[in-house]
Amino acid sequence: MTHDKDFKRLVRTRMAETGETYTAAQAALRSVSERGGPAAGSRPRPRSTPNERAGHRPIPRDARIFVSGHAGLVGVALLRRLRAEGFTNLLTARRDQLDLRDQAAVNYWFRANRPEYVFLVAGTVGGVLANSTRPAEFLYDNMMIHATVVHASHLFDVDKLLYLGSSCVYPRGAAQPITEDALLTGPLEPTNAAYALAKIAGIRLCSSYREQYGCDFISAMPTNVYGPGDNFDATGGHLVPMLIRRFDDARQRGDREVTVWGTGKPRRELLHVDDLAAACLFLMERASQEGFVNVGTGRDLTIREIASLVRDLVHPGANLVFDTSMPDGVPRKVLDVSRINGLGWAAEIDLNDGLQSMVDWYRTADHVRGLEINADPDADAA
Ligand code: GDP
Repeated sequence: MTHDKDFKRLVRTRMAETGETYTAAQAALRSVSERGGPAAGSRPRPRSTPNERAGHRPIPRDARIFVSGHAGLVGVALLRRLRAEGFTNLLTARRDQLDLRDQAAVNYWFRANRPEYVFLVAGTVGGVLANSTRPAEFLYDNMMIHATVVHASHLFDVDKLLYLGSSCVYPRGAAQPITEDALLTGPLEPTNAAYALAKIAGIRLCSSYREQYGCDFISAMPTNVYGPGDNFDATGGHLVPMLIRRFDDARQRGDREVTVWGTGKPRRELLHVDDLAAACLFLMERASQEGFVNVGTGRDLTIREIASLVRDLVHPGANLVFDTSMPDGVPRKVLDVSRINGLGWAAEIDLNDGLQSMVDWYRTADHVRGLEINADPDADAA
């Protein structure tokens, strides 16, 4: 890592002196080093190769790792995974301690904490209704959060950053299953276009910093994620928590009919958050590439089928009633996961088991519904 940093510094000095781009300065320094040994006492290592060729580059267990968005669904699972893997130096910042939309504050935090690895999983998120009714917030918050963290990671020489995008970045009409190269080939789904645009900008931000400054910033595109710690807020939540809550409420009231939004015909792929956390760590240690990688199961079901699975776990025998006045969203978005499978990672958690774990969490959690539902009890420790 130190050698990479030394080399980067040399490249930047040369860029300043010659006005060359990062790639040109890097190539020139490489050729000097190949002809006459390392320049100016540096011992440059080869740059990260495309992930098909890159091996395992384990993160030192005591490395300073910043999980931005540690109190959200993905962040909580990621912290859990990192702790289980023996990482001891996990950095977090609560929203009231650090506004990730504020570049000066983020720079200050990076200067003080000097993270070496960054998982950028923070963002303003929500289900189809929240996305379509709060587009300004979804676009502004996410653009700002992604820009400040990526920029500070460059300024303060972070060794590696993993940025979490979303499968909604792909065009509404993309061929299914969706491959990574479908990005920017057609119009977006209107119900979440604002969020998707911010996410697309984030992907481009990572690849641009890689191209211009040689930063090892990578991106992953997860499909729809669910699991313990999800947001059960009555209007803002995603499909699975909303179904669990509605079936459970109906069970307690003794209602036989449960409303499901839309026609029930769209199809969704569901990835358990613990699988996503495992994939994030896997990619952080094994992938270094220009492009980005889909993360999913590669399998999808109709909303009717998903609602039936939840019904059978929470309130067997209830009838589904479809409210077609509510939005269907994109008709289908199942990811082609051959790239990540080719790297050696595949989702492991069976959907029924995953749903059951979420129902158990929902029923036993101490949280009052809608209050502090995402909070990580250990969040302040870091
Ligand atoms: P999306 O996958 O980005 O569209 O986000 P969601 O997780 O909100 O899933 C939306 C899909 O689930 C749409 O087809 C909705 O019509 C359907 N759906 C059915 N019931 C619900 C519900 O109670 N809440 C939400 N958010 N979606 C629902």
